[in-house]
Amino acid sequence: MNSTHAPLLYLDYNATTPIDPAARKAMLPFLGPDFGNPSSLHALGRRAAQAITRAREQVAGLIGAQPSEIIFNSGGTEAITSAILSAIADDPTKRHLVTSAVEHDASIAIFRDLEELGYTITYLPVDAQGNISLEELENSITSATALVSLLWANNETGVIFPIEKIAAITKQKNITLHVDAVQAVGKIPINLRAIEIQYLSLSGHKICAPKGVGALYIHRHLRYTRLLRGHQEERRRGGTENVASIVGLGEACQRASERLAGEIPRQAALRDYFEQSLLNDLVDVQRNGKLEYRLVNTSNLTFHGIEAESALMLLDQEGLCCSIGSACSSGSKNPSHVLTAMGLSPAEARASLRFSLGCFTTEAEINRALEIIPRVITKLRMF
Ligand code: PLP
Repeated sequence: MNSTHAPLLYLDYNATTPIDPAARKAMLPFLGPDFGNPSSLHALGRRAAQAITRAREQVAGLIGAQPSEIIFNSGGTEAITSAILSAIADDPTKRHLVTSAVEHDASIAIFRDLEELGYTITYLPVDAQGNISLEELENSITSATALVSLLWANNETGVIFPIEKIAAITKQKNITLHVDAVQAVGKIPINLRAIEIQYLSLSGHKICAPKGVGALYIHRHLRYTRLLRGHQEERRRGGTENVASIVGLGEACQRASERLAGEIPRQAALRDYFEQSLLNDLVDVQRNGKLEYRLVNTSNLTFHGIEAESALMLLDQEGLCCSIGSACSSGSKNPSHVLTAMGLSPAEARASLRFSLGCFTTEAEINRALEIIPRVITKLRMF
């Protein structure tokens, strides 16, 4: 509870999501009587193994993959790390990788480590709308390139990269493509039967499943070098499976598939109403990221003349949860690398807040946010 004892107003779905009640319900038996180890041959073990098989089908179903192409793991960071390391292990003579300047910290961290090991990384710049140039991508690929690794949807701005066109380029150049789809899965339609992507990372806690569970999609014809040794996941990811969370992830994917067609227009209408109202009510507000081809749940706004950190604290006191940049870098004093890459000054980046909606966000909540935010911004500007 906040200081006013009103219920929390959660507009931070890109940081993490509540667990879908259907996912929690599906998980409960595996936190209670169905506690078996899926590797055990007895009835309890078989029940756990069957539950994982069903979850694999549900995850594969959401992204148009085959169940055998899904490897369960601990989340987005592990999926990204294992995809990148597997891709470079495939041909150790290739020591160049291509990515963008606006990737999530989980990717940037591994690229920085690889630079220390002597790899060359091309960080493709973005324009003011957050787009990369496809021509620049094409020109950056050389005979030494081992991998192109790009976000599908940006966690800070919601800007969607044209992965279908990017995949056509990597296919034509015969280069492996990894896509960080952590923010895209469950928010846009994804059909891997129609696009040639070799690796795709996803995470449970962005799609109303628990934290600490996720999956890597790996194309069936690809050789995969595992990160963790062990017999589980067809010898591709060792360690006893997190059965309850995997079941939760499967159920959340199933729910996301069923909801997607309805949620896209519903959240787009709520988000557009939210943005337009703030643009009408306040002066000096700027929307970041291109308007079209952006996640329907994400709004990144610069309120010129304020410190977003102070705004965040005042909004928090009113019970409104939102973010400065990405949740993973919120302890950092540096301005968002995503916004500065789009040409915002450090002061403008530090005046920017991210609001992200989800499937449980209601119109009443948006109206309450629209009552709180202008008041807080006006108060800060008076100082
Ligand atoms: N990639 C993106 C785009 C993200 O937004 C996140 C989480 O914020 C991650 C990767 C990391 O995922 P996880 O928290 O499951 O490790």
